[in-house]
Amino acid sequence: MQRMNSGSQPALIDGFGRRITYLRLSLTDRCDLRCSYCMPERMQFLPRAEVLTLEEAHRVALAFIDRGVTKIRLTGGEPLVRRDMIDLVRALGRRIGTGTPGGLEELTLTTNGTQLAEFAEDLAAAGVRRVNVSLDTLDPATFATLARRDRLGAVLDGIAAARAAGLKVKLNTVALKGVNEDEIPAMVEWAHGQGHDMTLIEVMPLGEVDGERIDHYLPLDAVRRDLEARWTLTPSGHRTGGPSRYVNIAETGGRLGFITPLTGNFCEGCNRVRVTATGQLYACLGGREQVDLRAAVRSDDPDGALAAALDEAMAIKPERHHFAIREAGEAPALARHMSVTGG
Ligand code: SAM
Ligand code: SF4
Repeated sequence: MQRMNSGSQPALIDGFGRRITYLRLSLTDRCDLRCSYCMPERMQFLPRAEVLTLEEAHRVALAFIDRGVTKIRLTGGEPLVRRDMIDLVRALGRRIGTGTPGGLEELTLTTNGTQLAEFAEDLAAAGVRRVNVSLDTLDPATFATLARRDRLGAVLDGIAAARAAGLKVKLNTVALKGVNEDEIPAMVEWAHGQGHDMTLIEVMPLGEVDGERIDHYLPLDAVRRDLEARWTLTPSGHRTGGPSRYVNIAETGGRLGFITPLTGNFCEGCNRVRVTATGQLYACLGGREQVDLRAAVRSDDPDGALAAALDEAMAIKPERHHFAIREAGEAPALARHMSVTGG
């Protein structure tokens, strides 16, 4: 018999017994930056008609909540560039803390921070308590080159505004050989000095970019060894429901996470699925298995079709991802960009 969540709908449990409680929902593939590891300068964005309306995205989110999903992270592309996205945040925010069934424990988002100064207070008022802000460098010139836009000042203002609005900020930093690797200790000190947790991420082979990714691939086990030579790192039991594994650093007094999809298998405890801006459910960030939720939500019986689609997703979720950084000249392991799947 299917295990139920506390309501009448069956919980989402995949073929490997993993319970899915965490949805990453992309609101757009568009972005106001062009981080060079994420997308090319001339990125082809999707026609708007292909993207879920905010009402459709809301309905999709509710279908997951009905099946026991308790954590939703809004992402993109850049979620804050989607017009009226705050309406969706408010609608989902009303589900926070209402208990199951139909209740969310957490609503959060991943942002590049450029628009946070404008939205921080509205997000906090809607019930968001934490945001992840991507910040790969504190050097304005490196930022302008890496993101192809001179916006570091806006991001730092956004982080300050988030803090002032009472949001807990976690910084996400993609570790890039020859770009920010020398800056990582200084960034950790800065983040911890400001009271922010920080997580380092390995660059993943998703989508074609201008240039070779292997040139910038920096395995985090090497970064960790460097940091261990400098500071006292103690493994922490802290978990945020994602794949990050944390250490406490005695000297900086803060927490540092490592997301190591390539050097460490992070699939075992996977509790999440992703839905793209066009409503494609990807059962795995690194896999091709997908279910079309847009067709379901646009069908004559959206609720029934969505429930069936979620069952199908549980049946096809793979045990683990199979991507690896390829040699120069080889195609990326997956053709779709992180900004399409939702980071
Ligand atoms: N625009 C928002 C942002 O930058 O935070 C949300 C979407 S972005 C795709 C989510 C995260 O994915 C960011 O932290 C970004 O650095 C990371 N990312 C993008 N492409 C990546 C890649 N190829 N490998 C590893 N991380 C990547
Ligand atoms: Fe935009 Fe985020 Fe990709 Fe950078 S990482 S280009 S901010 S979607």
